[in-house]
Amino acid sequence: MELNKYIRDIQDFPKQGIIFKDITPLLSNPEAVNKCMELFIDNLKNKKIDKVVGVESRGFFFGMLLANRLNAGFIPVRKPNKLPYETISSSYALEYGTDTLEMHIDAIQQGERILIHDDVLATGGTAKAVCELVEKLGGEIVQCNFLMELSFLNGRQKINQYDIYSPLVY
Ligand code: IMP
Repeated sequence: MELNKYIRDIQDFPKQGIIFKDITPLLSNPEAVNKCMELFIDNLKNKKIDKVVGVESRGFFFGMLLANRLNAGFIPVRKPNKLPYETISSSYALEYGTDTLEMHIDAIQQGERILIHDDVLATGGTAKAVCELVEKLGGEIVQCNFLMELSFLNGRQKINQYDIYSPLVY
């Protein structure tokens, strides 16, 4: 199955000059979702995962499906002031300014084996911040997992100490 055809390019979103990869056509097709799950799960064979960390908000879709399939817990990483309990946070640079992500302080126990999932690896700033949150709480990062990688943005370089998997690469 050609998964590429379920990813739609949107010109000038969210800003002029950006071509946004829209995954909603893929999400609305159950065969395409199943195919992605099959690829993710095959790739994780024999890798024990205690918890899947999903990144707000498009990382929640497959993140929760993966957690359920792997019989693992699910942890949401969210934008500031969304999580109700005590949090830890990690900030990262954007083109202009910074952004911050948060996780509950009790989300991970020391030594737990963690799979990080987000929809897109672009510049890698988001993934790096999430890795920092996981390691602050003592989690062991087994893999960073994405639906797609925009390889021309070299996000891999920011997280090159970890295993990275992504079924779609542009
Ligand atoms: P990075 O921090 O530059 O790697 O950006 C990754 C984050 O931005 C992810 O959480 C993605 O959801 C989002 N993102 C960046 N580019 C795209 C895109 O083309 N489509 C969908 N999400 C994107």
